[in-house]
Amino acid sequence: MAHFENYDYLKTSNACVKCGKCLPDCTIFGINGDEATSPRGFIDLLGAYQRKEIPLDKNAKEIFETCFLCTTCVSVCPNSLPTDTLIENIRYEIAQKYGITWFKRIFFYLLKHRKLMDFGFKLGAFFAPLLYRQTKNGDSIQPRFPLPFVKNRIFGTMAQQSFLNSYPEEINFFKSNDSASKDSTCIQDATKVAIFIGCLGNYNYKNVGESLLLILQKLGIRAKLAKKQKCCGAPAYFTGDFASVDALIRHNVEYFESFIDEVDAILIPEATCGAMVLEDWKHFAKKDLALQSRIEKLLPKIFMATKYLESKTNLVEYLKAIEKNRKSEKWSLTYHDPCHAKKVLGIYKEPRRLLEQNYHLIEMEEPSSCCGFGGVTIQTERFALASKVGSKKAKMIQKTQANFVTAECSACRMQLNNALHQEQVKIAFLHPLELIAKAILECDG
Ligand code: SF4
Ligand code: SF4
Repeated sequence: MAHFENYDYLKTSNACVKCGKCLPDCTIFGINGDEATSPRGFIDLLGAYQRKEIPLDKNAKEIFETCFLCTTCVSVCPNSLPTDTLIENIRYEIAQKYGITWFKRIFFYLLKHRKLMDFGFKLGAFFAPLLYRQTKNGDSIQPRFPLPFVKNRIFGTMAQQSFLNSYPEEINFFKSNDSASKDSTCIQDATKVAIFIGCLGNYNYKNVGESLLLILQKLGIRAKLAKKQKCCGAPAYFTGDFASVDALIRHNVEYFESFIDEVDAILIPEATCGAMVLEDWKHFAKKDLALQSRIEKLLPKIFMATKYLESKTNLVEYLKAIEKNRKSEKWSLTYHDPCHAKKVLGIYKEPRRLLEQNYHLIEMEEPSSCCGFGGVTIQTERFALASKVGSKKAKMIQKTQANFVTAECSACRMQLNNALHQEQVKIAFLHPLELIAKAILECDG
């Protein structure tokens, strides 16, 4: 395994003034009330570890694996102390010392080898009906009977054919005979964007990418499917598999460089991938200045999808105009702020502004509290923690009585769909792009 330098935890530990401002909103502290598993506790323990006062034993491993990496603590800390970065780095040391569980190693291997992943999902989609059936809204699959390990949990549907394998690489709506594109009221004079769809959008929630294509078509924007993209690296980063992160970043950077001059932007409709690419890539590469500078050169053209659509196109005006044609009743929705969109990238107004054109927005009690997804380790080895957080969020969503819950993140979608299902809340999740596409189909055909 490649070697990465150990992090300087003491610097952050010394900078922590122990004010406790990070405690009330910490996701893990909120469910177990144990200060050892809180930002202040993590920072203190890591300082003690570097001073060699405590070992990195199994107990410490358990503690550091409980963090959801939601970054709430960073956003409220007066010193903006990077607890999330400390946790990511100690997880690297944990992985070095204790290894990475076999199924996670297989998963990360697949993330680096897309053709194998394509084949794995084909196989999965073929055999899944033996054990699973689709939920009523078709968004998830649920076990036909309680299964060992996953019990009654529901997951995203598996696509036989991934999004990236379902469409040509270059999509020029102007060349098609589609009258909708010719009649479009908001042509963007030959703008072209690439789509970085992310793994969940590629294999589980294909309709997100398809909705983005419909929106781009209405705007008269050409699309390029970035077909050779690989995972952004977030699942491996949160698990401490830095060798996989390094390989994935280098692959994607080189691939983006090969077409960046051809496109006006690269759109990412997923908060976790967006935060990884726009923020964590450059942090990860901070010891490799050449790689960091290559990343920095790409960043001005990379956007979360809603941010780009809201600020760089006339989609808002178009949605406002088509709303006048509405014949059916307006639906209502509530927006969950993915941690990686609001707290890391500061994106929360943009999706609301787009959605408010065609929907009644009902805010839930704490829209920006974490949904409890937490990453691969929480979802597999510590799912009881994810369940507790998800259940709180499902109840907040239920109180709004909205028709839909939405968030620009498929990881939140998987977690919230399961939480809503377990709490028997009958509110459907749709991605903001799916809701925008739905409004277009309802109002503009
Ligand atoms: S990242 Fe989230 S769960 Fe982890 S310490 Fe910070 S607030 Fe708590
Ligand atoms: S808010 Fe920041 S400075 Fe205050 S206890 Fe938490 S980590 Fe330390």
